[in-house]
Amino acid sequence: MKVAVVGSGQLARMMALSGWPMGIEFRYLVQQGDSLDPIQSLGEVVYDEDYPDAEALYRALGEPDVITVEKEAVDTERLKALQAFCPVYPDPKMLETCRHRGLEKSWINEQGVDVAPYRRTGSRQDILEALEVIGYPAILKTCTGGYDGYGQWRIKTAEDAAALDEDVCRLDCVLEGFVDFKREVSLIAVRNAKGDVRFYPLAENLHRSGTLLTSKAPAPNLTPELQQQAEEIGNKLLTASNYVGVLAIEFFVTEGKGVNEEASNGQDHLVVNEMAPRVHNSGHWTQLGCISSQFNNHLRAITGLPIGNTQALKISGMVNLLGVDIQPTVLVDSEQQLHGYGKSLRPGRKMGHINLVADSYEALDEQLKATLAKVYPQG
Ligand code: AMP
Repeated sequence: MKVAVVGSGQLARMMALSGWPMGIEFRYLVQQGDSLDPIQSLGEVVYDEDYPDAEALYRALGEPDVITVEKEAVDTERLKALQAFCPVYPDPKMLETCRHRGLEKSWINEQGVDVAPYRRTGSRQDILEALEVIGYPAILKTCTGGYDGYGQWRIKTAEDAAALDEDVCRLDCVLEGFVDFKREVSLIAVRNAKGDVRFYPLAENLHRSGTLLTSKAPAPNLTPELQQQAEEIGNKLLTASNYVGVLAIEFFVTEGKGVNEEASNGQDHLVVNEMAPRVHNSGHWTQLGCISSQFNNHLRAITGLPIGNTQALKISGMVNLLGVDIQPTVLVDSEQQLHGYGKSLRPGRKMGHINLVADSYEALDEQLKATLAKVYPQG
């Protein structure tokens, strides 16, 4: 089995590390200037620019059985041309939807699923009109190119809005109402071409400055009702897009109120923040916490193998190593697993992560606290 991955980051690396034992061969489609460190020695690299012709590119990629991606920012026209030769999962049309916040939100709404109240904007006038409807506080987010809190401006007051740079106002953006969430959770969903679907238990995620810092899974106090609500949404989104592979869905959990409802019904309600049409940082815990990790199941799904078990074997946690050197990072407990991405150090950069398991949520919290203290001694 041969898989070509578009991209050469840590997600491509972990896909390959999971696929090698199953005998899968990997090649990577990259562009000049892409960092190749994470996939060093894990398969041949092919430069997009060297093969303007799609068939020649397919041959250079080793005539793969399937092509997949590890990021949204890819040339989807190129992928559509490659579809003449082999399947591309997920479908490039879904990649186009997910990488544009405006298209993504309207598509999710069309499936009857809630997102935060929003308006599309492209001028200061648009922003002011949107604020009148949505109110304060709000967040302005660029439709494309933003990630991990970049390309976002929090607007708490009319003064904040007035202080927005003219260049920022002119960007294609969504103005989003601030969701008063109880917590953030995410669902890692898997679907294969036959339409078989499996879900991992929801993970609870904590962000720092817009970037994921820790996950706990299954999310503490996860009720069957909340899991079911998430899976119903997952089913709708997977089926509507005829999705193949892993799809990650990030949610806000709100206090019993749908975005279109005045009154709370007293139950937790899920509002979609965003989707990622790929394996996701908030699913890294599955590498230690499950029989089949998200990487393994993504590969199983796109190569037509049966989807593996997605149950949590133990209570799991994950700590992201952001802008810290992997070497001096000491593991706190024997039940921890270190992943380094082989990247050169830069402030805030995702350098690796630690997965851990525990027998109780109290023990998990202790471990997370001790690990965070060791990794981030400055706090
Ligand atoms: P995003 O890049 O959209 O995933 O945003 C990064 C993080 O910012 C989220 O995980 C939340 O913690 C926070 N955030 C984004 N949008 C909102 C919102 N509408 N209301 C409250 N918090 C938000």
